[in-house]
Amino acid sequence: MAATAPLDDETRTTGQGGRGQGDRHQVVVIGSGFGGLFGTKALRRADVDVTMIAKTTHHLFQPLLYQVATGILSEGEIAPPTREILAGQKNAKVLLGEVTEIDLEAQTVRSHVLGRETVTPYDSLIVAAGAGQSYFGNDQFAEFAPGMKSIDDALELRGRIFGAFELAELGASRGEDVDHLLTFVVVGAGPTGVEMAGQIAELAHRTLRRDFRAINTRQARVVLVDAAPQVLPPFGQKLGGRAQKELEGLGVEVVLGAMVTDVDERGLSMKFKDGRVERMEAVTKIWAAGVQASPLGKQLAEQTGAPLDRAGRIGVNPDLTLPGHPEVFVVGDMIALDNLPGVAQVAIQGAKYAAKEIEGRVQGAAPQKPFKYFDKGSMAIISRFRAVAMVGKLRLTGVLAWLMWLAVHLVYITGFKNRLTAVLHWAVSFLGRGRSERTTTEQQIFARSALQRLERGATDLVSQPGDYDAQREQARRDELEAQAAEEVRLTDAGERGTRPSERV
Ligand SMILES: Cc1cc2nc3c(=O)[nH]c(=O)nc-3n(C[C@H](O)[C@H](O)[C@H](O)COP(=O)(O)OP(=O)(O)OC[C@H]3O[C@@H](n4cnc5c(N)ncnc54)[C@H](O)[C@@H]3O)c2cc1C
Repeated sequence: MAATAPLDDETRTTGQGGRGQGDRHQVVVIGSGFGGLFGTKALRRADVDVTMIAKTTHHLFQPLLYQVATGILSEGEIAPPTREILAGQKNAKVLLGEVTEIDLEAQTVRSHVLGRETVTPYDSLIVAAGAGQSYFGNDQFAEFAPGMKSIDDALELRGRIFGAFELAELGASRGEDVDHLLTFVVVGAGPTGVEMAGQIAELAHRTLRRDFRAINTRQARVVLVDAAPQVLPPFGQKLGGRAQKELEGLGVEVVLGAMVTDVDERGLSMKFKDGRVERMEAVTKIWAAGVQASPLGKQLAEQTGAPLDRAGRIGVNPDLTLPGHPEVFVVGDMIALDNLPGVAQVAIQGAKYAAKEIEGRVQGAAPQKPFKYFDKGSMAIISRFRAVAMVGKLRLTGVLAWLMWLAVHLVYITGFKNRLTAVLHWAVSFLGRGRSERTTTEQQIFARSALQRLERGATDLVSQPGDYDAQREQARRDELEAQAAEEVRLTDAGERGTRPSERV
């Protein structure tokens, strides 16, 4: 067992209840998302102490973030406090902190919050720190095109979307041109982009149409842009095509084969395969294009020699452990294994597998067979009464898929109270025309840039244009196209989640 880290700093404490404080096996879980929460809960009957360390105090149900952004649900409904969820689990405790270092040799995890450092020792570790947004090396786009990964992102987007309609009303009543305010561009035609574009179209064409006097919200443009040649590659060719038709039926303009090469306050530029560059004036841009696994994956790869892929995901052993470190499990969006998709069920099942293995080891049981993902299916909502779903070989569209989506999401929303209020809010939005959560504040819209400027110092009061990496453009386009083609092939061939030996 490793020694407890020295206390040589005023703001530094060691994790209490860590190793050396009794005979119980100490499990540390990093993250309170799908992997972290389900892993911790799966250890509730195990003879272990569990410390969950996460940088937020809530468990975030990411699949419904777009509904917070478009005023259907409140943030509390999709992000209940982790502490409350685990209140009844006596062997679990929750620590707030961003993990900055995992020392595999010393078996410790170092975390920080507001200058306080905590070092928590472990006997077993489950790393479930998920993934963040990727701007493919063009991080300067983030200032004007927020991503969709956190409650902060969703609330900022809610402020920007509803705020754009308000500014358009103001401008139109003065006789100004407001087309740029009534153009909404979503970058990335994966499930998040499709859901977001569909919801904004529904907002503009249905929900808000009677609320304004100077503008006709039905004339708003909603544009979905992607460098890949098809919508929803992970759903295969047929469902992807169907989703595109449904979106177009809703009035969404789908622009494929277009690489975004510049984003600024007023709009964005796209470059097509034939070299043509098109500028689109749009104040509201939403980035739903790429993901990058937690940087903790890189740290673990450096310490173990495990491979990292382009998205920063780490290659793990078939039992989800790290090479040479059977006590460390990595689960969910951080792993690259058998072409598994970055979806909630991969994280949930992986975390439950890791928890069972830890419990078994403590009891002296034999190891389990390698981790095997059970694909329960995937679905994406396009708008009310319209969705696409695939369960095994079954492909569903329309109302049936939408009802399925409704049922599945209801089951997985955490807490009875949240389920009840979500149903009420869905009734208001889907059966009626209302949006219960349209409140926006100035802080929602401007806090992120204010905080960033605070971090960068007072001299940085004007945003600096970043350099677009034009040299890498062709390589990046080829990569995105190849990635989309591979996603389509894996789904259509039924090879996702299978090992090479299982493929025919
Ligand atoms: C907008 C959106 C829509 C989605 N829709 C669907 C869908 O419809 N269906 C589906 O199956 N999947 C969907 N997904 C994907 C799904 O949410 C992820 O696959 C899943 O959340 C992965 O679980 P995870 O535990 O690996 O990571 P996460 O759930 O992302 O959890 C990561 C946790 O780690 C914490 N963390 C990160 N870094 C640190 C650190 N350094 N220190 C401490 N804590 C840290 C985070 O705060 C978070 O609590 C969607 C994702 C997004 C963003």
